[in-house]
Amino acid sequence: MNTTCDKVTLTLAEAAIVFGVNIRTLRSWVEVGRLVPASRAGRGRGHRMHFRRGDIAALMLAACPVCAGGFKRATLKQRFCSTLCRQRFARTKLDPSATAPEPGK
Ligand SMILES: [Zn+2]
Repeated sequence: MNTTCDKVTLTLAEAAIVFGVNIRTLRSWVEVGRLVPASRAGRGRGHRMHFRRGDIAALMLAACPVCAGGFKRATLKQRFCSTLCRQRFARTKLDPSATAPEPGK
């Protein structure tokens, strides 16, 4: 990703298109304080919020703890790049012997 674009501000609608997320999702991030608008214009329901591209990118992009690959989150709860990695993580957590070598070997 071009980091020089990270300070570019986007409206809610533009950000939704650029990052491929639902406007409602973006709004909910603002409501819970995960995403802070760079500026707000107007008041009340019709106000327009602008966001820094980099702020949204930081929320959207994550590194998979299993394969260390970068991926784009579909939701903020998503921690792994794929179902496979999520299953691998669950398996190693439930069964420590899967990663630890057996004694005597
Ligand atoms: Zn992964």
